[in-house]
Amino acid sequence: MSPTQSLPQVESIAQKEQKFLLQIYDRYPLVVTRGCGCYVFDTEGNRYLDAIAGIGVNALGYSHPRIIEVLVEQAQQCIHTSNLVYHQYQGELAERLCAISGLDRAFFASSGTEAMEAALKAVRAQGRALHLRKTKLVALNNSFHGRTFGSLAITGQPKYQRPFGPLAPQVTFVDPNDNIGLAKAVTDDTAGIILEPVLGEGGIFPLTAEFLHLARELASRHHALLLADETQCGLGRTGRYFAYEWSGIKPDIVVTAKPLAAGLPLGATLFTEQAAQALPLGLHGTTFGGGPLACRVAIEFLSILDELLPNIRLIGDRLRGGLEEIRRRRPIVTEIRSAGLMLAIQLSRPGHDLVIRALQRGLLLNCTHDTVLRLLPPYILSSEQADELLRILDDVLAV
Ligand SMILES: *Cc1c(COP(=O)(O)O)cnc(C)c1O
Repeated sequence: MSPTQSLPQVESIAQKEQKFLLQIYDRYPLVVTRGCGCYVFDTEGNRYLDAIAGIGVNALGYSHPRIIEVLVEQAQQCIHTSNLVYHQYQGELAERLCAISGLDRAFFASSGTEAMEAALKAVRAQGRALHLRKTKLVALNNSFHGRTFGSLAITGQPKYQRPFGPLAPQVTFVDPNDNIGLAKAVTDDTAGIILEPVLGEGGIFPLTAEFLHLARELASRHHALLLADETQCGLGRTGRYFAYEWSGIKPDIVVTAKPLAAGLPLGATLFTEQAAQALPLGLHGTTFGGGPLACRVAIEFLSILDELLPNIRLIGDRLRGGLEEIRRRRPIVTEIRSAGLMLAIQLSRPGHDLVIRALQRGLLLNCTHDTVLRLLPPYILSSEQADELLRILDDVLAV
């Protein structure tokens, strides 16, 4: 088992940050120097099993040989062009994303939030084109869609919104899986319904198939767009390409990002042909989004993902079973929620100290929403590594 990194190592780096960085992050006492597979290493070579994987970004773990190969080759050729010219990989990546999502067109951005902004602008533009009053949005309590003004306006968590008001108005929030509330909230003035099929940052809450079908039906009936934010739950995380597939619905707009370019910043907004009409020539754009390096790596990511979907389901089930056993043994655990390799351990009290306990035992995870331990392990996690994770967690939760 790894001992923790000696404190002076962490402190010298932390001191510099405290002096020169905006103090917006409460970091764990760990300096990561490199990663390999599902493990990261600190400055002293101690090893940690990474069960949060860059908050869902490092779905292929670290230093995946196929990613390194295309990354190096493409970096030698061209890292960035601009959207003034063509390169070989944007169209090909768009084609692949359309094929797996069933949607028709893609826009590339540099992050999840930015991909959300494109989606929100499309929703607004299409609503207004139908009727000047059709500008309202319906979103979910406990949701998370990013930190820009637009994304923040539909993020149903007062703790993130309060200091920045007034935000874009006309958003109605409904509780996840509240069918009656949703039916009441959607009207002819609704331009879009926005949801995460599995709420991620809010604590891993899968939406029911019934709720998703209702959202689809209400959106269609009121000529509103249904927007699925799959930034965290999409691209294989739940064992299928997209989490909405489990319910059989098809959204009008899908947002993806986190694992898309294996650690390079890339987000994609996918549109049906009809939704895409809302953003014609010149109405949206970006400098960085969809560069050749990020797109080429993303194409490789999707090729690798093809082969990993069965493992995601298998290891997801194994972890789920193991966590349920831990819940029966450890009274601090009140509930386990999961969808594939997106797992939550609901605690009866705040869990920040448990993150540190886990670190001391060689496991990196995250506490979200104060009382939820969140696991977003890499898709390449093996059965042995899943069992290692469960063993450490069992020990950490013996409090
Ligand atoms: C992380 C996340 C975002 C924001 O993505 P960034 O890349 O941090 O901008 C948006 N929506 C969901 C569901 C997320 O999990």
